[in-house]
Amino acid sequence: MHNEDQALVFELSKPGRIGYSLPEMDVPEVDLSELIPDGYIREEPAELPEISELDIMRHYTALSKRNHGVDSGFYPLGSCTMKYNPKINENVARFNGFAHLHPLQDESSVQGALELMYDLQEHLVEITGMDEVTLQPAAGAHGEWTGLMMIRAYHEANGDHNRTKVIVPDSAHGTNPASATVAGFETLTVKSNEYGLVDLEDLKRVVGDDTAALMLTNPNTLGLFEENILEMAEIVHGAGGKLYYDGANLNAVLSKARPGDMGFDVVHLNLHKTFTGPHGGGGPGSGPVGVKSDLIPFLPKPILVKNEDGFSFDYNRPQSIGRVKPYYGNFGINVRAYTYIRSMGPDGLKAVTENAVLNANYMMRKLAPAFDLPYDKHCKHEFVLSGRRQKKLGVRTLDIAKRLLDFGYHPPTIYFPLNVEECMMIEPTETESKETLDSFIEAMLQIAKEAEENPEIVQEAPHTTVISRLDETLAARKPVLRYLKQ
Ligand SMILES: *Cc1c(COP(=O)(O)O)cnc(C)c1O
Repeated sequence: MHNEDQALVFELSKPGRIGYSLPEMDVPEVDLSELIPDGYIREEPAELPEISELDIMRHYTALSKRNHGVDSGFYPLGSCTMKYNPKINENVARFNGFAHLHPLQDESSVQGALELMYDLQEHLVEITGMDEVTLQPAAGAHGEWTGLMMIRAYHEANGDHNRTKVIVPDSAHGTNPASATVAGFETLTVKSNEYGLVDLEDLKRVVGDDTAALMLTNPNTLGLFEENILEMAEIVHGAGGKLYYDGANLNAVLSKARPGDMGFDVVHLNLHKTFTGPHGGGGPGSGPVGVKSDLIPFLPKPILVKNEDGFSFDYNRPQSIGRVKPYYGNFGINVRAYTYIRSMGPDGLKAVTENAVLNANYMMRKLAPAFDLPYDKHCKHEFVLSGRRQKKLGVRTLDIAKRLLDFGYHPPTIYFPLNVEECMMIEPTETESKETLDSFIEAMLQIAKEAEENPEIVQEAPHTTVISRLDETLAARKPVLRYLKQ
């Protein structure tokens, strides 16, 4: 058997084989029935695999090599900002004084951690142009929900009980309408115009005295900056609604423009995107939310405050929407983001945006001749192509995505946003070199050529991965998440 195939053979267990060595027991054996209530004690020993330490190491190492990550290759997954996570962030997050804290420790013994959180909040206030920031939410979508709950509490505190609708453009991130629904609002969609921007006439049509908020993803999922933001702010504020800014992809505007200056009342950030927290696979994230002063009373409690004796939590917040996350939020991700901000400095953060936008525009222009460019404008951190030309040749966008695997790339986001046929949403990010961008461009151009000359090679891709195509519907509907012994 070829070594690489080792991990395909899932049943590695051999009776009696062990992966540990313990010293002889030299203490009396405890009677479990004295410690554990009846009904909780196993009658039979757990059926665990019996395997040596070396075999289990090889098994997991083989599996890990089949995984694609930013540390192994280019990952232009639009709207996800799969950029490099500097390793100094990991070093700092592993400092004993951070990694070994217990969340129930007394405040007086964790002053350093609290200072870091306070300082990070202050930096994010500065970066967003808001008045106060909470670090509690654990993800972007969680931040959206937290922000909407604050907006709701605000309207209710003003006796404004009819504001039940949240307006979301059709070019918004998919989590926006979902969060609005979970927060108990009805979602109204506004259309994009021919330039891929919010249609102001349509916005005027849907806005009214039942508008709780407009949620804007900016740049939108087409990678375009909403140019008419001040006018939109005027329309929504004029009707008594609040403005929510989805700032998950702030690497498009960081140090160049601030949501607070554009008239926004609430913004969330994704520290696990823009601020280099590792992400993917549902790992811990951090989605801090910034608000303008009139929403401060509704922030999740407790609020971190600074006084003469140091830092402490203030629980006395009668109008707060309450806690949205236990303890300190995802503290480890906040440490990484803080390290990133401090190591980049203001000039570094400005360069992030410049390079993210430059890389995306460079790639867009190089690919435009071979694919369809539905919105021919300068983009921000990402851009959208359509594979409709290739579709006419029998090659779908899904096929292009699968073919990219043969070149060692993670495919872009596909079939989103929904308003572009055969959509590919490409985000190169600022951390990639020109050489990497060029080789990806070359691969894409080659695939476009194959679609014309030899479509089967694209239609049948991938050819180099361990398994080729899955029945994706079956995998989504009936996932097998447990290893079942034959
Ligand atoms: C990623 C993203 C979100 C959601 O963030 P999660 O942390 O995955 O919940 C929201 N909006 C935009 C624009 C995003 O790119």
